[in-house]
Amino acid sequence: MPTIGEIINFLETTAPLALQESYDNAGLVCGDKHQPCTGAIASLDFTKEVLEEAIQKKFNLIIVHHPPIFKGLKKLDTTDPITSQLIKAIQHNIAVYAIHTNLDNVIGGVNGEMAKRIGLINVQVLSPLQGTHQKLVTFVPTDHEEKLSNALYAAGAGSIGNYKECSFKTEGIGTFLPLEGSNPFLGKVGERENAKETRLEMIFPVHLQGHIIAALHNHHPYETVAYDILPLNNTFREWGAGAVGELPHEMSPNEFLQHLKKTFETGIIRHNLCQVKKIKKVSICGGAGKSLINNALMTNSDAYVTSDLGYHDFFQPAGKMLLADIGHFESEQFTSDLLAAILKEKFPTFAVLKSAHKTNPVNYFL
Ligand SMILES: [Zn+2]
Repeated sequence: MPTIGEIINFLETTAPLALQESYDNAGLVCGDKHQPCTGAIASLDFTKEVLEEAIQKKFNLIIVHHPPIFKGLKKLDTTDPITSQLIKAIQHNIAVYAIHTNLDNVIGGVNGEMAKRIGLINVQVLSPLQGTHQKLVTFVPTDHEEKLSNALYAAGAGSIGNYKECSFKTEGIGTFLPLEGSNPFLGKVGERENAKETRLEMIFPVHLQGHIIAALHNHHPYETVAYDILPLNNTFREWGAGAVGELPHEMSPNEFLQHLKKTFETGIIRHNLCQVKKIKKVSICGGAGKSLINNALMTNSDAYVTSDLGYHDFFQPAGKMLLADIGHFESEQFTSDLLAAILKEKFPTFAVLKSAHKTNPVNYFL
């Protein structure tokens, strides 16, 4: 039986917490991560019904997309329904874990699942995050370069898109003069050394810096390691908000809206009028995605599917793109299936369920 912490660690290798937006509060909301996990329920929201479901099934972990505590909490007053539910969860020894914008910001997360349901192909991030990676440059005796490279790869450096173990190596001469009190790996105290070294360069995700530097110090033979960490301004297509892809076959706007309505079982779709005749390139953003309308237009998308749009937002594409609001819950509903599926694959004998409750607070009066 894995511990709650082991489940969380796995989820955070899939969607690192460092990728959450600055306003977010993803992570362990309450509970003890050291206890064995008796089972997990995945849900979009932390509701009374979902908590009851966990209690009845004797599962001690609830994984939600929307964090139940979003802003600072100053009082634990049970007249507030969320506080009351959290206290009840704590009384039943149930941990609550939120995986929110960090799951929005990975291509295999909320938007990847949405794209899969729509049937999009060639899917990429719509608005890549900036500042996610840095470059490490270090200088190592040439005959120790491979051992150090392997340790750095194992710590998470050198991955770009679908490629692992990416590096650049140049051979040259490093110089140093060991001072009194040093214990040089090469050369002698008081004599300048000219050592055959390799300049080794590789990129790494910023949030892994601690692991990478520890691996560097543990596997580099010198007692004092020379290295540079350089900021990078380029973006990487696998991390960021929204997604853009293509339908395998063109659809008319009406056919596409029909397809969305059926796929997301939405009561109603609000949309603009557009001059687009055929829909092929589609941008999407699960949840509130009005901030990405321009990104969708810049990719020349024929349609942009999201939720929580306001009146004025529908004017923004000026008829150049179909803009469809399919509902917040509807757009993200498959996130619970995704969480249950990735956990089942990693921990095949572990009890993980998608909650039986539809937590959508919005109803449609037709
Ligand atoms: Zn949401």
